[in-house]
Amino acid sequence: MDLNTRLANLLAERWQAQLYRRRRVVDGAQGPELQLDGRRYLNFCSNDYLGLAAHPDLVAALRAASKHSGVGSGSAHLVCGHHRAHHQLEEALAAFTGRPRALLFSTGYMANLGAISALMRAGDGVFEDRLNHASLLDAAVLSRARLQRYAHADAPALEARLSAARSQCKLVVTDGVFSMDGDVAPLASLSAVCQRQGAWLMVDDAHGLGVLGPGGRGSVVAAGLSVEQVPILMGTLGKALGSFGAFVAGSELVIEALIQQARSYIYTTAMPPALAEATQASLQLVAEEGRRTHLQGLITRFRTAAQRLGLPLLDSTTPIQPLLLGEAGTALAVSEALARTGLLVSAMRPPTVPEGTARLRITLTAAHTTSQVDQLLGALDGAVPQEVRGP
Ligand SMILES: *Cc1c(COP(=O)(O)O)cnc(C)c1O
Repeated sequence: MDLNTRLANLLAERWQAQLYRRRRVVDGAQGPELQLDGRRYLNFCSNDYLGLAAHPDLVAALRAASKHSGVGSGSAHLVCGHHRAHHQLEEALAAFTGRPRALLFSTGYMANLGAISALMRAGDGVFEDRLNHASLLDAAVLSRARLQRYAHADAPALEARLSAARSQCKLVVTDGVFSMDGDVAPLASLSAVCQRQGAWLMVDDAHGLGVLGPGGRGSVVAAGLSVEQVPILMGTLGKALGSFGAFVAGSELVIEALIQQARSYIYTTAMPPALAEATQASLQLVAEEGRRTHLQGLITRFRTAAQRLGLPLLDSTTPIQPLLLGEAGTALAVSEALARTGLLVSAMRPPTVPEGTARLRITLTAAHTTSQVDQLLGALDGAVPQEVRGP
């Protein structure tokens, strides 16, 4: 087949199924108010959960650091790009997560690809929650291990699969907080299953880090699990930490193995060292409880009022508050109606979410005010059709 024809068909199919995606252009900084395609919106779709992405302390740290370390890192970590700022951030992240060591990656996608493909190989088994992030599924495929997906957040279903598997090594992988549903993984039960079945547990805490647990140390610390119970912890720096990049934290042995084997670590340019220094400033701000307290207050306020309005909320206690609308067309129409009133809420459609579960993915941040959340509630009341509402 001619490749042009194939691509044109693919785009036409996407368009017809109301799954076509397009980009809109941002001017200025991230925040509760966002300039997009030349219009100002009230923003309820970023992952900047603590409102740190444009915090003056981070901006000042980045400027100051770039004065002495420049912009580019010049090479990969294993050549001559591993700057003292990277090294110190790794030490700070290890301390923050309560683990012996941490290793920086340039993005969360790369951290997941690198970690899983370095640790697993053909003959092994990778067991993933059905709703895991795409990067975790891609990573398992890349590793050549056998991938099995278990029912969402279902520890007994996982145990049945593990006990039936004859893989050499078994790795169970879960999001800490699920990116599209906002629910928290049952980490204590998953860990108990892994102990019984001799499997390792890896948690991707992209949405838990900075948000959950004492000091914002994430879902694994919140669940009280040790490095033995969760040997591999992945966290990202581009969400609640307001910066960019990612890391894997674990034992000396795991981190050394990743340095030797993780191809997405070895064959890529290190992140700009100034960014690593700015992220240290972000760790200082994350430690303060005030933002999490305010955020939790907004979540409670939003859920209480949304339930009163009969809005079809999923069961989530985190800043990710999805409204389940079903059809892609409905989600898109509601998102567009909200945009006309100046509110930015993204419609999530397949393949990002399962067929028939299109939704609005509302995210609250510590930078929102209560009156902005009330404005969102008023707009949702006007835009969400009666037929998807509860009593
Ligand atoms: C965002 C995200 C990633 C990818 O992290 P990036 O740094 O954006 O590449 C990985 N896992 C989950 C669960 C995420 O939400």
